[in-house]
Amino acid sequence: MSRKIFHAIWIVTLAVFLASLTIILAVLYNSFTELQRSHLELESQFAARGVILNGRAFFDDLDPEDYRITWITSDGSVLYDNEADSAVMVNHMEREEIRQALATGVGQSSRYSDTLSEKQLYYARRLPDGTVLRLSATQATVWRLLLGLALPVCAIIVVALVLSFLLASRLSRRIVEPINSVELDDPMQYIGKRDYAEIEPLLQRLDHQQTQIRRDQAELEKTSQIRQEFTANVSHELKTPLHVISGYAELLESGMAKPEDVKPFAGRIRAESQRMTKLVEDIIDLTKLDSGGLGMQWETSDLHRIAENAADSLSAEAEAKGVELVVEGERAELLGIQQYLYSIVYNLCDNAIKYSAEGGRVTIRTETVPEGVRLSVSDTGIGIPQEHQDRIFERFYRVDKSHSKEVGGTGLGLSIVKHAALLHNASIHLQSTPGEGSVFLLTFPKDSKRAAVPKE
Ligand code: ADP
Repeated sequence: MSRKIFHAIWIVTLAVFLASLTIILAVLYNSFTELQRSHLELESQFAARGVILNGRAFFDDLDPEDYRITWITSDGSVLYDNEADSAVMVNHMEREEIRQALATGVGQSSRYSDTLSEKQLYYARRLPDGTVLRLSATQATVWRLLLGLALPVCAIIVVALVLSFLLASRLSRRIVEPINSVELDDPMQYIGKRDYAEIEPLLQRLDHQQTQIRRDQAELEKTSQIRQEFTANVSHELKTPLHVISGYAELLESGMAKPEDVKPFAGRIRAESQRMTKLVEDIIDLTKLDSGGLGMQWETSDLHRIAENAADSLSAEAEAKGVELVVEGERAELLGIQQYLYSIVYNLCDNAIKYSAEGGRVTIRTETVPEGVRLSVSDTGIGIPQEHQDRIFERFYRVDKSHSKEVGGTGLGLSIVKHAALLHNASIHLQSTPGEGSVFLLTFPKDSKRAAVPKE
């Protein structure tokens, strides 16, 4: 950038300099010509006086260095010329300045000589006896003028080149210096400073970018921490059932188990294996949700139908627990990923049954509202204390860990619900009173398809 500015300044300086030089030379040339013309006119006056007084004798001692003098008769024959033999010279009647002088008394013209590098200025004056006296001088042409000025002009050009070079490099350094010295961590400190006035929009953009980078970094750190915690939790959650399984398996293998213990031990092994399977399935679901439902198909689905399917799958569990399970409401269509909509209803309903006592009632309700589609899952279960309500959507967070494990929970159900809801742009509202029950209310907006990838 510094190099570019340097070149630009240098080129502009040189161009201005050369243009000025050309204009000055043109002005000089014009004023020299004018000077020479008036000089010639004055000289012709003196010469005419001399010829009138002395006749031909005037030319005898004449030795003009700066101009040529020619005396011509009224019919154009040359009587005298100080630079050529008048006897062999051609008739001058056709010369413009002679014709003018014969007609008006004075005449002047200018012509290029054969070499073209010289221009002759002519001034002719008619004498009282009818003859014409003509003076001519070589006009210095531009090239002559330049040639004469060559040395000083060259010197000026060299000085100008050096000066403009130094000036351009100094200026370009001065222009770029503030940009190079900007502290990227805090670009806003330069706002309002004179040197930085032109780059204020750039500084503001930099600041915006810095804030964005810091935000992204913080988010990245948070995500990485969540992932680490998640991995640690997963290992821990997997290890516990594995220990139980291997413990019972060892007892059975060693023959220490009494025959009547074999059945309950096998039952425990099966229950723990099922919990592990559920845990792995939930982890797979969460991982898919983490990618924002990439590759999943969005289609118009009836949430009421999905609720009925989920209720069907859980009816045996509800019956075993002595909990009444009902699906209410109406057809409620929305654009969504069927598998995740099912996960939402299934996990909420599964929890509602798990955390309800015998004789309880779980109600799934769907309806179409002006904002979109609404789903509510309510139970008459144990309820969730206020202080836990914000945290239960975190991975592996449980109000009562042992109770959750006892009822076959993985600690991931509500986290799946939250992410699937986020993916559908849906809001979650929880109303719960310990001892009375809970209501999970989800509202899916009409534009349920979102592009954002859920972070946590
Ligand atoms: P879990 O597999 O342990 O049920 P979830 O993520 O589904 O994990 O739920 C987190 C915790 O929230 C549960 O351990 C439980 O303490 C509480 N919870 C969830 N749903 C209900 C509910 N309907 N009634 C009472 N507590 C609930």
